Amino acid sequence: MKILIVYAHHEPKSFNAALLERSLKTLSRLGHEVKVSDLHAMNFNPVAGKDDFKARRFPDALQYDREQKYAHTHDAFADDIQAELDKLVWCDFLILQFPLWWFSVPAIMKGWIDRVFVNGVVYGTGRRMDAGGLKGRKAMMTITTGCYPEMVGPDGLLGDLDVNLWHLNSGTLAYAGFKVLAPFTAWSIHYTDHERRTRYLEEYAVRLEQLETAEPMFFHPLADFGSDWRLKPDVAPRTVGQHKKDSLCE
Ligand code: FAD
Repeated sequence: MKILIVYAHHEPKSFNAALLERSLKTLSRLGHEVKVSDLHAMNFNPVAGKDDFKARRFPDALQYDREQKYAHTHDAFADDIQAELDKLVWCDFLILQFPLWWFSVPAIMKGWIDRVFVNGVVYGTGRRMDAGGLKGRKAMMTITTGCYPEMVGPDGLLGDLDVNLWHLNSGTLAYAGFKVLAPFTAWSIHYTDHERRTRYLEEYAVRLEQLETAEPMFFHPLADFGSDWRLKPDVAPRTVGQHKKDSLCE
């Protein structure tokens, strides 16, 4: 497979860097072709703005997503965006690797998503979920945390991790059309010992060996929804994001 790893960590001696190094060794041993966008090393600009476009449809007032659509058809993206977009459409498999920051991606990776998941290619004009612009591809997040797994169990102090990550797994990756594999998570990295961290590196290599065979997470296909955008009455909700109103807790 052609694999793009988008990587957000500032420190070459970090545990994230060790995970990245292990993934590169493992994926090349398995015969995959790999490209890495090391966002800090690239000094990637995460702030979406007017300089992202070489030509504008609406020069008087910036409408960012509409300009993305125009830029795609007029070859008008700034060079750094076009280079990343080329890598994104090149890949069969996208890995987003990052330390969990405020239950999300660090800002540099959020900016990569904002600027590179462009309207007119990734989404827009009906491109979403199983009709998303990146359909046919797979994606997965590789995450390190400060928290313990018990804290993000369904009844944990911080709430279910699947709920916390819904905006990324569904709102970003599945929305763009990816089949999404469950995240690989290395837990409480600061509060564990060297031996456990070494085992995480081994476990990650095993996960990477299963990329082509692992069953993706379930997301409701567009066909499960009516013209009112809601699940059809005869379709039972099967995700953490969709649920029956009367099942909501107070
Ligand atoms: P590092 O600090 O780089 O490494 C941890 C340890 O691993 C170090 O002792 C290092 O020496 C060691 N190590 C390095 N290489 C190896 C190797 N090859 N083998 C074995 N050990 C090695 N956590 C949450 O759970 N939820 C949050 O919402 C959250 N929000 C945060 C927000 C911010 C702004 C910040 C700064 C942190 C937040 N955290 C949160 C914690 C964060 O997720 C962790 O700090 C991070 O995941 C740790 O990963 P790291 O790669 O930076 O670890």
